[in-house]
Amino acid sequence: MNAEIVAVGTELLLGQIANTNGAYLAQKLAEIGVNVYYQTVVGDNPKRLEGVLKVAESRSDLVLTIGGLGPTEDDLTKQIVARHLGEPLVTDQAAKTKIDEYAARTGKNLTPNNAKQALKIQHAISLTNHNGFAVGDLYLNQQGASYVLLPGPPAECLMMIDRELIPQLKKQGHQNHVFSSRVMRFIGIGESKLVDDLSDLIDHQTNPTIAPYAKMAEVTLRVTASAVDEDHAETLIQGVVNQILARDGQYFYGYGDDNSLADVVVNQLIERQLSVTAAESLTAGEFQSTIGNVPGVSAVFPGGFVTYANQAKHHLLSIPQTVIDNQGVVSEATAIWMAKQAKAKMKTDIAVSFTGVAGPDELEGQPAGTVWIGIAYRDEEPKAYLYHFTNGRQQVRARSVMAGLDLIRQ
Ligand code: ATP
Ligand code: MG
Repeated sequence: MNAEIVAVGTELLLGQIANTNGAYLAQKLAEIGVNVYYQTVVGDNPKRLEGVLKVAESRSDLVLTIGGLGPTEDDLTKQIVARHLGEPLVTDQAAKTKIDEYAARTGKNLTPNNAKQALKIQHAISLTNHNGFAVGDLYLNQQGASYVLLPGPPAECLMMIDRELIPQLKKQGHQNHVFSSRVMRFIGIGESKLVDDLSDLIDHQTNPTIAPYAKMAEVTLRVTASAVDEDHAETLIQGVVNQILARDGQYFYGYGDDNSLADVVVNQLIERQLSVTAAESLTAGEFQSTIGNVPGVSAVFPGGFVTYANQAKHHLLSIPQTVIDNQGVVSEATAIWMAKQAKAKMKTDIAVSFTGVAGPDELEGQPAGTVWIGIAYRDEEPKAYLYHFTNGRQQVRARSVMAGLDLIRQ
């Protein structure tokens, strides 16, 4: 099923606000296997909106509009879609009751415009608005394109997508099919390499589909299957997941949209009762802040060091001045010393250290993005690894943090 999102509103068209509802909707549709092929933005103009609807339904099975369900004069979406479909508008009793009750409770007099928000397209399924009054519509069309009408205010729109639209679309389930998807997360491999390794699968796989997405320093794959029920969908997904793992399993670190690398790593540490500390130069605490975001981290993280300048490395970590003077601050030796000293001082099982050139300028003749990450792991000999990151200061620091997490991942 191919979908088109039509966001209605002059403020969107002029760039005064961003189409965040459209972005959210597209993601949620992808999760249930509905392909969004087009997104259109159109102003509050009846003629142009109708023109957009004609184009949309000529190329899409499902047209979803956002905005223009409000009480005011410029809120015209429902009237225009209804006229376009040749459908009358009727009152949705539940929505009307809600508006009446609100009026009674607050002592406000209803205007005809308020009542307008309780109107629905006659043969549509009503989508309840849990955060407002305007009722949404799901109009299933056997002949032509089906329509969905959603309100513009994000609190109303997002809630309606989650609580009403997605469950309804799943229930209507094109030929009683369910969609199920699983997100696989990878670190230490670039998107192009991963896509290259899997190109035959990605190109020829239609059920499940595989959709890659590159995030900051990591890559995700969304595997989406359609089947008669969840169990069958899961079996299909697992089949493809196994094939992917057979090729690039060493870079895979976890499932799920929300689990970050920090979540996975910290939870591993908690499970294995291994404590961790860090000595951070170019990242200036970003590593510690990142693991600090994970609930429960206090069980394994006593604290650590931010040693930005050389004298801080000397004073806080007791790194001999000669090491820095002779080997350089951006060096294997300094990274190893930082990790070793941090581990000894905090008495943890593991310590990670970061020293490098965040940029934009070079340091000690080394270009921006040169980073040494040290690791002292239990009784093993401390080691350090050299990285070359690109794309500016922020990315260099963020990628350093991810690489540090990756080093302590098991
Ligand atoms: P209202 O009852 O507020 O009039 P509505 O359904 O008529 O709601 P609009 O008037 O189009 O919706 O938009 C209401 C507000 O919601 C806009 O001012 C804007 O801030 C926000 N909004 C509308 N469309 C979007 C969108 N696609 N993405 C993000 N925000 C949006
Ligand atoms: Mg409005």
